[in-house]
Amino acid sequence: MKRTLSLLLCVLLTLSLAGCAPKEETLQIFAMDTVMDMLAVGSEAREALSASAQEINRLEALLSRTRESSEVSAINSGKTVTVSDETAELLQRAVQYAALTGGTFDITVEPLVSAWGIHTESPKVLSADEIAALLPLVGSGHLHMDGRTVTLDEGCSIDLGAIAKGYASDRVAQIFRDYGVEGGWVSLGGNVYAHGTKSDGKPWSVAIRDPQNTAGAAALVGLSNQFAVTSGGYQRYFTAEDGTVYQHIIDPSTGAPAISDLLSVTVICGNGTMADAYSTALYVMGLEGAKAFWQQHSADFDMVLITQDNILYYTPGLQGKLTVDEGGAYDAKLLS
Ligand code: AMP
Ligand code: MG
Repeated sequence: MKRTLSLLLCVLLTLSLAGCAPKEETLQIFAMDTVMDMLAVGSEAREALSASAQEINRLEALLSRTRESSEVSAINSGKTVTVSDETAELLQRAVQYAALTGGTFDITVEPLVSAWGIHTESPKVLSADEIAALLPLVGSGHLHMDGRTVTLDEGCSIDLGAIAKGYASDRVAQIFRDYGVEGGWVSLGGNVYAHGTKSDGKPWSVAIRDPQNTAGAAALVGLSNQFAVTSGGYQRYFTAEDGTVYQHIIDPSTGAPAISDLLSVTVICGNGTMADAYSTALYVMGLEGAKAFWQQHSADFDMVLITQDNILYYTPGLQGKLTVDEGGAYDAKLLS
């Protein structure tokens, strides 16, 4: 009898411990034109992931330039519109980032994004005249805001594609905190957020994709409660009949796809929205511009730059966190 009782106790104890063990849940969705993966560990992991997916879908409905019912489409219709506080705030931040990055990140580049059509089934190589006709429509000065009231100058339009996923990752980070997620990560296209730690207490290992062999990693970086956002020509491009490759990030100063000496830029910091805006901007700036920008703002972010000539530059904040394959495709060099 005693034996049976202690056996029963043992079984109950095992069951209750199993019940308390934090659950690991994963979720994959397709939103904002990309595959998104998420993993969360915690007693409310499933709820956290489902709330995150809902939030991402809500933001896509609000911010997509291709959804007719979005606030961005309402702004792009050319009428004066009243938008939500959230959209107004994000627009204000976008304008600030445009000013900070010397206009290399600029949401008003939309007319050129659309005309090149690199996201579409029918991309087009624009002539110099076509570019010249659209370039005057680019510039934050065309976006007029008075609180939540927004007006664009005639013919102008905006694209939040270079910042919306970063903003979504900030919102997901907040949801993970709200649901007491112990550890986890999300990868929204090139936008990663690493939350807490793995169950062994170590940081999450985030792969920086090899831009020349996208199935592999150029480096791994250990992150906890940080964002790592990558921009690169390899993420979206088309090859014209003459073999020229046109990638999706437009240089707002030329109106053409940026010709960068960088293959990819990864910005690492505690703010997903800023990381997203900066990674796009630094890709346009190229190696020298990106280095100079980081030197001015080194307190705000770390970065990894992968160059056309196979060098992987990283900033001192990543020392001890970054692993680059010795003898691999890239020579790692510390920036100072
Ligand atoms: P990302 O992948 O974050 O670098 O964003 C690139 C996307 O943002 C493109 O696919 C365009 O939709 C849009 N875009 C292209 N060039 C720029 C730019 N210079 N500034 C802001 N958005 C841009
Ligand atoms: Mg971006």
